[in-house]
Amino acid sequence: MPPVKTLRTLDELADAGLIAPGRLPALEAVAARYAVAVTPGMAELIDAEDAADPIAAQFLPREEELVQGPLERADPIGDEAHSPVHGVVHRYPDRVLLKLTHTCAVYCRFCFRREMVGPEGHGNMSPDQLDAAMAYIAARPDIWEVIVTGGDPLVLSPRRLRETMDRLAAIPHVKIVRFHTRIPVVTPEAVTDALVAALRAPGKTTWVALHANHPREMTAAARAACARLVDGGVAMVSQTVLLKGVNDDPETLGALMRAFVETRIKPYYLHHMDLAPGTGHLRTSIAEGQTVMRAMRGAFSGLCQPTYILDIPDGHGKVPIGPGYLGDGVVEDPAGRSRAYPPE
Ligand SMILES: *Cc1c(COP(=O)(O)O)cnc(C)c1O
Ligand code: SF4
Repeated sequence: MPPVKTLRTLDELADAGLIAPGRLPALEAVAARYAVAVTPGMAELIDAEDAADPIAAQFLPREEELVQGPLERADPIGDEAHSPVHGVVHRYPDRVLLKLTHTCAVYCRFCFRREMVGPEGHGNMSPDQLDAAMAYIAARPDIWEVIVTGGDPLVLSPRRLRETMDRLAAIPHVKIVRFHTRIPVVTPEAVTDALVAALRAPGKTTWVALHANHPREMTAAARAACARLVDGGVAMVSQTVLLKGVNDDPETLGALMRAFVETRIKPYYLHHMDLAPGTGHLRTSIAEGQTVMRAMRGAFSGLCQPTYILDIPDGHGKVPIGPGYLGDGVVEDPAGRSRAYPPE
């Protein structure tokens, strides 16, 4: 029987058969430090018999999370340094992050904001904080895009989202509103017609960036939720975190990208994993990531190619990290052979 509500404690995970009771004492310190939540949909996808299950690896707490690598830090991409008012991160001239909430439907074990999200995290923006954020955006005509993130903004009610969209709609220089979310995959039933309508506003273009990491997450229900968004006039892109043992091979990653494209979602970013604390067991090297990306090129449609991205620590921004194909007088073809360029 799949669980009917979100599992939030170790005991609930054990009762659902997802964690062996003998492991509970060792996991108490993990659950005390980092938030836990597994939605019914994701719990149902986990194969508890498979120690390497790629869905379990994303959501079930593990002892390894207590190991903090020497380079890992609480604010891995330096958001704090670029936060002019509470809930706003302004690192690039034409776009800002607006962090409406620090709550999520699930808590991913590799989250780069894991020190800020959860029931004991930074919470929701207060009305005063939202006023200050809107005033900041309204006063800066260079802000062309507002990226609503968190946490997961789609945990908020359609009414709250509608209010936010109405306020952004009143700012003429904001043309694009982009929501970053995992909801269509982890709680697809929450993507109602009312929610889709709440994300749209006259004169603004709405994009949704869907976070998913394994092709099994793209269930029939998830695909139907995305179809409601796209049919409702929302454009969609994907973002995926490269995770060791979850999606760090070309077959799995290619199947995920195909599932996105079949669902009218353009693959956007493949993130190299940030240096969040206690995530070393899920991190690949950049060289391994480039090997996967190289194998994807040629084997999968050009529509299925995401950009492999590193968010440079300390707030220096995101850059593509290859692989590169161009050398001095040579270029590598999709099969890995060198070709002279310009041709001889
Ligand atoms: C990731 C990020 C963005 C969005 O970057 P894109 O490359 O446009 O997807 C914007 N602002 C901040 C602070 C970010 O961290
Ligand atoms: S849904 Fe996003 S913000 Fe929330 S825990 Fe997962 S990665 Fe972090």
